[in-house]
Amino acid sequence: MRFSYAIDQEPPRLFTGILVRSAVVLLLLSSGNLAIAEQNNQNQEDHMTQNSKKNPAVTGRIPDSEIPKTNVEWRKRLTPEQFEIARKKGTERAFSGTYWNTKTPGTYRCICCGEPLFRSGEKFESGCGWPSFYAPIDAKKEDTKGNVVAEHEDRSLAGIPGFGVRTEVTCRRCGAHLGHVFNDGPPPTGLRYCINSASIILDPKAQNDGSKEKEDSTKSR
Ligand SMILES: [Zn+2]
Repeated sequence: MRFSYAIDQEPPRLFTGILVRSAVVLLLLSSGNLAIAEQNNQNQEDHMTQNSKKNPAVTGRIPDSEIPKTNVEWRKRLTPEQFEIARKKGTERAFSGTYWNTKTPGTYRCICCGEPLFRSGEKFESGCGWPSFYAPIDAKKEDTKGNVVAEHEDRSLAGIPGFGVRTEVTCRRCGAHLGHVFNDGPPPTGLRYCINSASIILDPKAQNDGSKEKEDSTKSR
């Protein structure tokens, strides 16, 4: 882990916010334990393996002309879980996804269109149960949000304490629902992109894992 919290980041507030949200989500989506989570991880990996032959985005960025236009087409490519989360704005249970605890270097691409979205270099341990990044792949010092992801106001849980109006994050290219971004992330951006594992796929073979460019990603570029 290359990242560490700065002393002046008020960690109690930071972690309290994350823990409150995680606890509420756990209550909402039914709680599980780590044994079940590990089993789910294996199940999802099995799903990915079974799905890989049908979904061209699993192996790389697909051409614009091959991006489906209808949910009927999306259903043919995605697993049921991927479809519900990426195309229907669902949320996987905390600590249940494939990548919440993954430290493998690589690039995380959109499960729907294959667009590179996040890098392991910006991934950090948030403790919230979903893969978390402090910046998308194309973030710059003067534009920490970049262009590969888009943001939308989400009032679906606005009435629940600890949530309020959230900011949904989608793949700008194909509209896939990825997760949400919060303002309780670590420096240098202070952002926490809380992403569903089902909406992304790790490409561990990618050359650019963020380890070298991280120094520049939000500081000098
Ligand atoms: Zn996409």
